[in-house]
Amino acid sequence: MHSNGWRINMFGDDTWLKLFPDYFSKTDGTASFYVSDFTIVDKNVTRHLDYELSDEGKSQWDCLILHYLGLDHIGHKGGPGSSNMPVKQFEMDSIVKKIFHDVLEKNENTLLVVMGDHGMNEKVMIGIMELKHQWNKTQILTIFQKLIKLIWCPR
Ligand SMILES: [Zn+2]
Repeated sequence: MHSNGWRINMFGDDTWLKLFPDYFSKTDGTASFYVSDFTIVDKNVTRHLDYELSDEGKSQWDCLILHYLGLDHIGHKGGPGSSNMPVKQFEMDSIVKKIFHDVLEKNENTLLVVMGDHGMNEKVMIGIMELKHQWNKTQILTIFQKLIKLIWCPR
């Protein structure tokens, strides 16, 4: 993407910035190794969303990378049963929902990729189960239909 001239904005885990220091148009990195921090690392990403997902903001990037750390940190510290987990899952649900409404619903030629670098255990299915908290089955199917369609129709 970078070599094709895409403007890439990145917010979150500063490992990206250390690995690819010259690849991003706009950044705000957060140190990833303070595993006890469940909120500051994520607020530092979310505080950019209103602008980055506005029409003006969207006109300034071709790819937006948001690397949230709080859910991972909670998993490492307290596991899937941590009392901090439901609140963080609802927070992440709301972020995906905002991206869906502000970007995907307005431009079908957009790909949203939600991923993690590892699981927690077989009892917790991070991803679709989180979506079920706020969205009904039809809404989730619509999202995945759009995603499947978008994967085959890039940019
Ligand atoms: Zn981890």
